[in-house]
Amino acid sequence: MPPLSRCAIHTITTKSWSLATAVDKYRAAGVGGITVWRQALEGTTAKNAGELIRNAGLRVPALCRGGFFPATDAAGRQAAIDDNRRCIDDAAALGADMVVLVCGAVPGMPLRDARSMITEGIAAVAEQARQANVHLAIEPLHPQYAADRSAVSTMKQARRICEQIDLRADDGAPVVGIACDVYHVWWDDALEAEIAIAGAKGYLHGFHVCDWKVHQTDPLNDRGLMGEGCIDIPGIRAWIDRAGFPGFYEVEVFSSRWWGSDQDAYLAEIVRAYEEKT
Ligand code: ZN
Repeated sequence: MPPLSRCAIHTITTKSWSLATAVDKYRAAGVGGITVWRQALEGTTAKNAGELIRNAGLRVPALCRGGFFPATDAAGRQAAIDDNRRCIDDAAALGADMVVLVCGAVPGMPLRDARSMITEGIAAVAEQARQANVHLAIEPLHPQYAADRSAVSTMKQARRICEQIDLRADDGAPVVGIACDVYHVWWDDALEAEIAIAGAKGYLHGFHVCDWKVHQTDPLNDRGLMGEGCIDIPGIRAWIDRAGFPGFYEVEVFSSRWWGSDQDAYLAEIVRAYEEKT
């Protein structure tokens, strides 16, 4: 059973709760961390949010999310870079260990071109992240999103971008790494090997869990709690552990079904699913 102290919950998972409510409830449930989505910062500042979270004794593995680098013109690509710079500033003020990058894609743009723009975009902001002591974590998304959300679909593609940029913090650790989300990569026959490589190279920055329901009613907002679907989550977590991953196991669930339910009972289910099915 994974320790609850290593569990972090993404605010999007219980998105009807304000940040203050989420902090209170997560802390009372005994989890160790909270990953903050940018919309949860509306009405406050990253600095104040960071204080609120620290005072509750919670850690912040990540701010979600930056990315969306590809665009059809230079102005669009620059706007994306500017937005990522703001996101890195917010992550530093919040006290987050990393910014998660959903890398982006443009319908009709060749994926190879999109990946080049992604690499250029990350490279453009990586030095700022290094100076702010914030990691950047490329999150490969399931190929069902390759048209419009991420031209990076696999751990291997993400690793190649990390290798190309190869920027190191003062302690020698890579600034740019990977957020491995079981929902997106569970089907990949290279997953075990790529997790091992990412671990050995210091690229394993984040690990996200939820489940892949066999019959999904929506491609975005019908994810399952751990145990509700077909992913071998304990098996993948074992690979992550073997790779030396020291971070949080982050629960990230987009689910209209769960969002529409009683959120206190849902949080209890999250904790149960984390302890029994992760
Ligand atoms: Zn994720």
